[in-house]
Amino acid sequence: DGLTGLANRRRFDQYFNSQWLELAQQRSPISLILCDIDFFKLYNDKYGHPAGDICLQKVANVLKDTAQKYQDLVARYGGEEFAVILPHTHDRGALHVAAAMQAGVRELKIVHSGSTVSQFVTLSLGIATVIPNFETSPLALIEAADKALYQAKAEGRNRIIIKHI
Ligand code: GH3
Ligand code: MG
Ligand code: MG
Repeated sequence: DGLTGLANRRRFDQYFNSQWLELAQQRSPISLILCDIDFFKLYNDKYGHPAGDICLQKVANVLKDTAQKYQDLVARYGGEEFAVILPHTHDRGALHVAAAMQAGVRELKIVHSGSTVSQFVTLSLGIATVIPNFETSPLALIEAADKALYQAKAEGRNRIIIKHI
């Protein structure tokens, strides 16, 4: 991805599909974390688009530094949304990684006066875990993580929700 240096969406799709097949063969779990910056439109409105870009880069660096196992992949999934693929990782491990990401972004202390959940920039995170199989589409895992993220937003943001599928 040009702005953040993370894997882009295309790379995410390729890696996710190949890991799905690989882990179905090995009967080993895969976890997916989707995370989204809270009130980021307000951040841009208040501090300007260039400052928003710098914020995205800082958050991206935290995510990258946090998912450190060599098979982990951190991608920019959309504008201010990131996706983290964690092969061979159960929901407990994924929760641990997500909590470290949330804490890492909190510790950046990027002032965000438009946010109603914190004085600083925060993340909402959705997690889903499954042991892949050849009959199920990998899209099911993305949908589950997306639902979890949606729930994290709906319940107030700046939090982590796990969905079991
Ligand atoms: P929520 O807490 O519900 O996620 O609210 P939000 O404001 O973060 O979400 P919304 O989807 O309304 O706004 C996303 C914003 O992200 C709007 C868009 O301008 C900004 N954005 C997306 N891509 C970029 C980018 O590359 N650079 C900058 N500076 N802003 C971006
Ligand atoms: Mg957002
Ligand atoms: Mg978003």
